[in-house]
Amino acid sequence: MAETYEAQVVRALREIDTTLRLVRYSLDARPPQEVLDELHQQGMLPPTLLFEVRISDAEGRTVASTHPQPAHQPNVTMVQAEGMGIELLGSGEGAEQPLAFSRRLSEESANPQGAVSVLVDGAYFVSGYDMDTLGVLGVLALAEEEGTFLVRRTGNDLFSGEKIDYEDLLTDNDGIGQPALVRSSEWDGVDRYLVARQLFEFPVAIVVGLSQTEQLDAAESMQRSYYLRAWLVSLAGLVILALLGWLSWKLQQVQAKVLEERLDHARRAEYLAFHDNLTGLPNRAYFSRLLTRGMQHARRYDKQLALLFLDLDRFKAINDSLGHDAGDELLQEISRRLGHSVRESDTVARLGGDEFVVLLPEIIEQEQISHVANKILAAVSAPFTLVGQEFRITVSIGIARYPADGEDEQTLMKHADVAMYHAKEEGKNNAQFYSEQLKSDSLERLALESSLRKALERQEFTLYYQSKLDMATGRVIGMEALLRWQHPELGLILPKQFIPLAEENGLIVPIGRWVIYTACRQNVAWLKAGLPQMSMAVNLSARQFLDDGLLRDIKGALQASGMAPELLEVEITESMMMVDMQKAVGVLQELRKIGVRIAIDDFGTGYSSLSKLQALPLDTIKIDGSFIQDLLNNAGDRSLTEAIIDLGKSLGLTIVAEGVESAEQVAYLRQHACDQVQGFYMHEPQPAVDAARSVQERLDSESIP
Ligand code: C2E
Ligand code: MG
Ligand code: MG
Repeated sequence: MAETYEAQVVRALREIDTTLRLVRYSLDARPPQEVLDELHQQGMLPPTLLFEVRISDAEGRTVASTHPQPAHQPNVTMVQAEGMGIELLGSGEGAEQPLAFSRRLSEESANPQGAVSVLVDGAYFVSGYDMDTLGVLGVLALAEEEGTFLVRRTGNDLFSGEKIDYEDLLTDNDGIGQPALVRSSEWDGVDRYLVARQLFEFPVAIVVGLSQTEQLDAAESMQRSYYLRAWLVSLAGLVILALLGWLSWKLQQVQAKVLEERLDHARRAEYLAFHDNLTGLPNRAYFSRLLTRGMQHARRYDKQLALLFLDLDRFKAINDSLGHDAGDELLQEISRRLGHSVRESDTVARLGGDEFVVLLPEIIEQEQISHVANKILAAVSAPFTLVGQEFRITVSIGIARYPADGEDEQTLMKHADVAMYHAKEEGKNNAQFYSEQLKSDSLERLALESSLRKALERQEFTLYYQSKLDMATGRVIGMEALLRWQHPELGLILPKQFIPLAEENGLIVPIGRWVIYTACRQNVAWLKAGLPQMSMAVNLSARQFLDDGLLRDIKGALQASGMAPELLEVEITESMMMVDMQKAVGVLQELRKIGVRIAIDDFGTGYSSLSKLQALPLDTIKIDGSFIQDLLNNAGDRSLTEAIIDLGKSLGLTIVAEGVESAEQVAYLRQHACDQVQGFYMHEPQPAVDAARSVQERLDSESIP
């Protein structure tokens, strides 16, 4: 600032000096005013609005001026012999006064000893900067060598004439090559960054001062604004950080939630993968792991364990007849009972269907195992209520021990399964330990099962026929078709040996169908061959009886053979009725509608009470052979047989005695008005050809001998 101010001042002074020299040079013998006017007209003089050019005589009186009435009355006095004189017109300090710059006129002029002056307001030299730059306390000033301010501007105020210590002001204070120093200004006591510099060509010094407070104020306000900005930026940063933090927290939460969901899902999936849906028990896969682990443990510590393989008896019949919901309920109840029958350390698992397993770790004594098995048998067979009815179900248990009966999972499971089948064969509702003997039996069974599947298509089945004789006439009035399996290697196999198996795997349905068709065809063939009209009885198994295709099959067989429906009699057992009385009655009524007759087989061996017979649409009761066999020795059997005959008669049913083996039995039965007899004493079951011959032989008989 000092440098540009200096340059401005120097330029202004030079211009003023140029004017002074021009006027001095132009003055000649003519009157000075004339010369001035001429110069003015030629535009050689500075604008009169700001400047007055004046010519004075030796005493300082004005002799010519560019201003007709001189603006500044005071005379010019400061005229040097050489160079430019500078003078503050007027007297004393105070408000701004005009400055006069003068030069002595030359000897040759008409007015020697006189002077030419340029008068200008001091403001001219200090108006170059605005307030923004200078500030309220900033100073621009011209000082002359004597120690007077020619003009001083502070803020917008102008002063002149103050006395100052010129020497002191200039000492070490030119601002050249050094920063401006802060000094207290002697004229008003304000601390300023101050530069004072003596001009090279003119006897004046320029003074530039900027208030320290104002400058620092600016700096401080700048600092404040920087602080503010910094603070705002920091705040913004904080906000962004907080936002980022919040976002990442949110993200973490979402991730955690997703993770938790996945874990949950995995846990659920794992639970489902290893637990049975219905009962919540470990499933086959999980049990397999538990068993493997149990065996590893037992091996390491030289211990034993027992595996109990459980299969519910007659579960399929209940499930088929009562519906799957009831079946599910039953399975849940069974699994609860199993859980209560064993210790905490034991494992109960469901392999599927009605198959359960129980793992007893660290068990050695056979009695201990039997004890647990008996507990389970008792727990399962306790009565329970299903669909408002009281039921009993039993279970068959096979037991295999590690390591005696198998050292790996597969063998152990297989052997427990074999033992379980043995328990079934032993009449169900019991537990059997595995033994080597069972193994060979089961191998046979396995072979049987696979060949049973092929037996139908290989036409290995055949029907034998056993006669039923009328007690009164001794004539054959009906036949019962009894199934035989002509096995290519094992020979003739009786139903007892394969029907339970066929029941289990469902093959009984197609086999039974074949029986019905074949029996009907045979009946018609005999009639066509000239034999007397006979009824034909076929046995139905439980599964077949509840099969939805039964009626269709029977109708189909009757139609295909052309047999009269009244001649066909189906034999069912009490136990088949027991499973679902309502459905059973429904099936029986349907059969009745077609005209087919219904016999209840093996009567007396089941649980049903005699009174229940009333509710069934029956035609015939067949008293089980076991009663007939002991008839003569056992009073109980006798009274039961008599009761059955009495009741049957009162219900209008035909009474047949099965398994009649002797004349005495026949006599007794005749005496008690039994209607028909069937048994080895009359005829054993025979192939069709032989049976036909037997019929013929008895055509002329009067009665049974
Ligand atoms: P079931 O219907 O009670 O048949 C009578 C069984 O007693 C027959 O055995 C017959 O051979 C036998 N038997 C007849 N008279 C005497 C006798 O005087 N003394 C002795 N001790 N037994 C005699 P089988 O043929 O072995 O049949 C056994 C059971 O198999 C049948 O009992 C029947 O329930 C079932 N069965 C036979 N054929 C079929 C069939 O085609 N389908 C179905 N589902 N079951 C059948
Ligand atoms: Mg029968
Ligand atoms: Mg029978």
